[in-house]
Amino acid sequence: MQRDPVAKLLLFGATGDLAKRMLLPSLYGLHADALLPAGLAIVGSARQPLDDAGYRDFARKALDEFLPADRKQEEAITDFLQRLTYQPADLSDEATFQPLADKVGDVSGGLAIFLSTAPFLFEPAVRGLHKVGLAGSTVRIGLEKPLGYDLASSREINDTVAAVFPEDRIFRIDHYLGKETVQNILTLRFGNSFFEPVWNARGIDNVQITIAETVGLEDRAGYYESAGALRDMMTNHILQLLALVAMEPPARYEPSAIRDEKAKVFRSLRLMTAEDVKATTVTGQYIGGAVKGEIVKGYDEELGKESDVETFVAVKAHVDNWRWQGVPFYLRTGKRMTTRRSEIAIQFKPVPHSMFVGRGGLLQPNTLVIRLQPEEYVQLLVMAKEPGLDRDGVRLREVPLNLSLDAEFKGARRRIAYERLLLDLIEGDQTLFVRRDEVEAQWTWTDAIRAGWAANGVRPKSYPAGTWGPSAAIALTERDGVTWQDD
Ligand code: NAP
Repeated sequence: MQRDPVAKLLLFGATGDLAKRMLLPSLYGLHADALLPAGLAIVGSARQPLDDAGYRDFARKALDEFLPADRKQEEAITDFLQRLTYQPADLSDEATFQPLADKVGDVSGGLAIFLSTAPFLFEPAVRGLHKVGLAGSTVRIGLEKPLGYDLASSREINDTVAAVFPEDRIFRIDHYLGKETVQNILTLRFGNSFFEPVWNARGIDNVQITIAETVGLEDRAGYYESAGALRDMMTNHILQLLALVAMEPPARYEPSAIRDEKAKVFRSLRLMTAEDVKATTVTGQYIGGAVKGEIVKGYDEELGKESDVETFVAVKAHVDNWRWQGVPFYLRTGKRMTTRRSEIAIQFKPVPHSMFVGRGGLLQPNTLVIRLQPEEYVQLLVMAKEPGLDRDGVRLREVPLNLSLDAEFKGARRRIAYERLLLDLIEGDQTLFVRRDEVEAQWTWTDAIRAGWAANGVRPKSYPAGTWGPSAAIALTERDGVTWQDD
């Protein structure tokens, strides 16, 4: 992959929560490891009336608060802050853009723009940037999620951006793709010979993908009320994980080869009818309960009013192609769950015949667990014989073959997803960014589910905070004789 680094980075939303917690610490991390282009100048922008010195103070405080202690090196921080300048700008005001262009200056050496702002500002931003010459052939643009709330709004955003930037200069973020373990799914599948022969409907019984959070609404009421669990987590992160599990082997590790295969998976997702959603989806909303011993309020109480927004969703999905015919993909995500966890569990088919039955030995089907959060590991659950003389029968037990990425690569620094993604944006590698056709196929699938909910008047079922969601979510898999991988 030919790297094509830019000379400047323009960061909108430079005073926001994401900038403080993730973007500034990530840029610093890259700087400290000498991974940023030597002369890379970073211009921050938001409405707040700061000057360069004021923004450097702001950034220093953010680094103080959010950098782990072992990453804080005074000399590197001082050096990093020198890269930063600031230009106040209100993206909804056309007059804002000329002073911004003056501040950014010459972009012939390449400019990467990162829009870490609410999506309703994407359109005026892109139009304004174009008008003042900040959208030419040397400029690329990164967009934070959410990219719309349905297919129509996502097309509108995509059309607006496409009017100014061609697809090969648009970088749509799904920060899950920046996670090391997520990229490891590709290595696991395509860097080892033994999984691929059974990685299909003949070898795999079902796939489960869980993203469970323990947090509640936090201070995201405005956004979450217009999104809900299906659109906030499942449409993007969970479907991206599903695509990496289900895709055909790409011929090369390069942007179009990988994204072509993912897009094919999204296009093969079975679109649900209004009838389907009744049996294949479950929605929930948390009521008061206890999470890790702490008493917490219900969603309505946190919000201060009644709401029909789902804070939990479970879906039985299907990828309708040759490889995955008949294999259910059970997907679920929710807030205020028992524990924080992102995990993929691939359950293989049972052995065709057990020779242990006559001796009392019971077999479990093998399961491959890919844990993404909070720990990072891959575990293959295999059957083993318990030691003993077996005079009362053979005792068999499921034991884990462990690959702990945390332990195995202890010396290597674990980078946060945004370090990887910002560096790829700066260097122009689109592999881990989401292409337009992927986003639109994801929304097509989601819209069908939401239309089904609307047609059936589906309202979320209550579940106490600190549980794995409504009991109907358990029934969703148990009906098929499958149990969620919850340990
Ligand atoms: P935030 O804390 O509300 O920050 C928004 C930023 O945009 C601030 O810097 C704000 O500064 C600036 N801004 C607001 N209105 C503006 C305007 N009219 N013109 C120019 N700048 C404006 O939001 P955030 O949490 O950082 O999130 C930023 C984006 O990332 C959002 O699209 C969000 O959905 C997405 N995202 C965030 C997270 C997260 O963990 N925080 C995770 C995933 C995705 P001023 O008020 O000073 O203008």
